[in-house]
Amino acid sequence: MNMKKKIIVKTPLVELDGDEMTRIMWQLVRDRLILPYLDITLEYYDLHVKHRDATNDQVTIDAAKAIMKHGVGVKCATITPTEDRVREYDLREQWKSPNATIRAMLDGTVFRTPIFASNIKPFISTWKRPIIIGRHAYGDVYSNAELRIPGAGKTEIVFTPDGGGEILRNTIHVFSGPGIIQGIHNTDASIASFAKACFAYALDQKVDLWFSTKDTISKTYDAHFRAIFDREYEANWKKTFADAGIEYFFTLIDDAVARIVRSEGGLLWALKNYDGDVMSDMIASANGSLAMMTSVLVSPDGYFEYEAAHGTVQKHYYKHLQGEETSTNSMALIFAWTGGLRKRGELDHSPEVMTFADAIEEAAIETVEAGIMTGDLLAVAEQAPTNRKVSTKAFIDAIGERLQKKMA
Ligand code: NAP
Ligand code: MG
Repeated sequence: MNMKKKIIVKTPLVELDGDEMTRIMWQLVRDRLILPYLDITLEYYDLHVKHRDATNDQVTIDAAKAIMKHGVGVKCATITPTEDRVREYDLREQWKSPNATIRAMLDGTVFRTPIFASNIKPFISTWKRPIIIGRHAYGDVYSNAELRIPGAGKTEIVFTPDGGGEILRNTIHVFSGPGIIQGIHNTDASIASFAKACFAYALDQKVDLWFSTKDTISKTYDAHFRAIFDREYEANWKKTFADAGIEYFFTLIDDAVARIVRSEGGLLWALKNYDGDVMSDMIASANGSLAMMTSVLVSPDGYFEYEAAHGTVQKHYYKHLQGEETSTNSMALIFAWTGGLRKRGELDHSPEVMTFADAIEEAAIETVEAGIMTGDLLAVAEQAPTNRKVSTKAFIDAIGERLQKKMA
């Protein structure tokens, strides 16, 4: 083999290992596509659910701190413990979701981007370029207070200021019979940090930023999101956006949904927590497979964590354990590595590291375009006589062969 010298990565990359099927693919990807070509220090944290259990989840906190120290991390999918998982893995506690822990420590926003291949057409034929979703991952209905109202009576929202002062109140509803109420909140600080992350990521990706809320109906709550975005844009981004030839565009959520379906894509769509939750699943499924969606957590302080948007692919893992051959798609995991490496290269001013990340992505996409694909893609790809379903490992091997030719 005529291999050139390894490419030097100047700063350590933080590696967060994970669970089940993705843990198996993670290692294959690292050993086959990354390590043969790079002289790199991987600062390794094992987030296997049993190791989180053994360390009282300290390993997750240490991993988040390492990302804050070095700037860039790549993460494998991990089990979020449920009661079933506590029994299955004999855990001492139902530990929190690692993603929630890391997101809270980094105060980040998650951006999800579909991976395009020419033979995997989005179900929406006008989409030519990826639609990136930026979901505000704090507050609203995800940290609500709810009440079941048993019968007739008055319901109110009340604000009692610390240290005295005027008490604010508003009537929600005067009930004449049973019903339900809900209290939700958000903070200026969190919305502002979300807005900053969205403007910064749109600029990073050189795409227009769209933001949408229901501000015509919610004149205080949703309108405030809009006001904070407007303020942030006017104060810090107007000029840089104009210089980069990109735009900030606010529109009502209904209008945005209608426009997105008719758009060519190639934009970042910022959404409130619930809208982002729902719309990201719509975008993922319209693009064919969950395994063709990458995800990056961007913190306002400039830390980045890259991962696949999907989970640990539990069902495939159980088949694997039973000795059956699996055909699990490693695209999103590969793009987690390449996203992390490209950002590492950018921060280190190492163009050769960025070019290497491009080469892996090209090798991966060309493999799919040549018809070599996993089962999930075969089901949605354009029909071609060259199409064939390969195993989890054979898919990564095929990408590895292409990459080796590119790098020779
Ligand atoms: P999942 O792992 O995303 O898988 C759901 C289904 O989607 C799979 O059964 C498979 O469908 C398909 N799929 C997902 N990724 C695929 C891939 N790479 N290749 C081929 N098919 C793929 O979700 P889950 O089974 O609901 O969750 C499993 C575990 O993942 C849970 O413990 C959950 O806590 C965790 N999770 C972690 C993260 C994260 O770390 N970011 C995110 C979500 C979930 P078929 O079975 O039809 O082939
Ligand atoms: Mg969802």
